[in-house]
Amino acid sequence: MEAIANRHSGTAGGTLVAHDQSKPLNVHVSISASAASTAAGQRALWMLVNLLARSVGAVARITVACPEAKLHPAVAPGYSAGSSLVAAILESAKAIGAIPPRLAAGTPEQSFVLGIGRVDDADLTLVFGDWWGGLDYTTSDAGTEVTLPFGPYIAAAHAAGHVFRVSRGLVEFVPFVYDAWKHVTASEIPPNPPPMPKKLAGDFLLAGVGAVGTATMLTLWATPGLKGRAQIADADTVDLTNLNRCVLFDASTVGLPKASTAAEVLQTGGAGSLVWDPHDGIAQEHPRRQQPLQLLLSAVDKNRSRLAIQRLIPTMALGASTYNLRSSLMRAGPLGARACLVCHNPLEPEISDPELRERYLAANQETQARLAESLQISRSELDSWARTARCGELDNRALPLLAEELDAKPHQFSVGYLSVLAGVLLAAEAVKERTSSTRALDDDKNHVSIQTLTPWSSRNNATRYLRQEDCIFCGPAGSATLQSMWADRFSHR
Ligand SMILES: [Zn+2]
Repeated sequence: MEAIANRHSGTAGGTLVAHDQSKPLNVHVSISASAASTAAGQRALWMLVNLLARSVGAVARITVACPEAKLHPAVAPGYSAGSSLVAAILESAKAIGAIPPRLAAGTPEQSFVLGIGRVDDADLTLVFGDWWGGLDYTTSDAGTEVTLPFGPYIAAAHAAGHVFRVSRGLVEFVPFVYDAWKHVTASEIPPNPPPMPKKLAGDFLLAGVGAVGTATMLTLWATPGLKGRAQIADADTVDLTNLNRCVLFDASTVGLPKASTAAEVLQTGGAGSLVWDPHDGIAQEHPRRQQPLQLLLSAVDKNRSRLAIQRLIPTMALGASTYNLRSSLMRAGPLGARACLVCHNPLEPEISDPELRERYLAANQETQARLAESLQISRSELDSWARTARCGELDNRALPLLAEELDAKPHQFSVGYLSVLAGVLLAAEAVKERTSSTRALDDDKNHVSIQTLTPWSSRNNATRYLRQEDCIFCGPAGSATLQSMWADRFSHR
């Protein structure tokens, strides 16, 4: 049965105790008056409550202690600057339709307390700067001067991650911060990077508006000074099992196309002036796709999709993904020296058309009706395709969607905080691509993988991600024409 917790109820390869043995926590989120008056404090609060409200099975009850304050711009999508912070936080989390938070003046008994700013009885405090975020035992009022969303979101994701791990029997913790500027994990606050330019222009294509992609979009929406055309693409529609981790989707968006829905949610109120240009289909078919493609952000979760978008030969490609309890970010190339998007990602076996039709016919009425609706064709048209193999109004673009929906393979483990972490790192790296020549991911160290079982480990930093010798795209069997085109674009970037 479809349920919000489906995608995080697994054991992540045997690391976690089983979902049915999990001990959901009563979580109390408390923010100080001074933190609640800052954009950074409000962003940390919004993201933390949003993630906790999706954590079915890990969280039993959420209470929030928040002084009334005016909402800063680009904090809560759909809520205008100057409106009530408390209303924006509680209402948007309730709309998810999973664990509704409620306001509490004091700390309810037997609660695990997460603090933002100086909070007396916090078990853990979220700490953050512009580019770094983490968790600490000591309270602090830092963060008043923070204008970028990266640090607050990283801290919030790690806090939700800690709650998730504790509910599944993993209680160990060591204070740490993660610096997304240099990609290092440390126990001390990192030095400030150079200030961001006031305006950052440039277009990009984001492939995949799922859990990672929506976090990337929100982060870019909240980054001051960004301008340009943000093309986004996803052929999928929102379903109930997406709600455990897609920060822009709630119960009212189930059944709607992901790309245009996410663009709609972020249409107004952003900190910069990005223009969202959605396509409710696969990225390579975005009707206004720029050529040559300068910057590709990959947030897709299928290896076949990775191959398709790598074949667009973007000058620069950044990819983010999650696997079990790991969030990863990679920068593709250079050719022959470092991995492309396809390396180490073997293609999934494809379902044959006859098999697809058989599965459709075997599905229950409800599923058949839902598929017809998301393809915007009639049931009888879809039934006739399944029985006769004649396509009629069902065009080729519908087949990948059906294949995805009717695939019998179990979905991979996936939990909200991991996707947000990956999505925020992808957005931060995209911003760095435009700002500085001393980027953390480069032609040598092109990969970062954060094992969130031990997020404090110093091994969570930038490393080399080598190519796969026999990669079907960048290896000897790949197209020499495409490879030389990529090498040429890469060297002239
Ligand atoms: Zn490759």
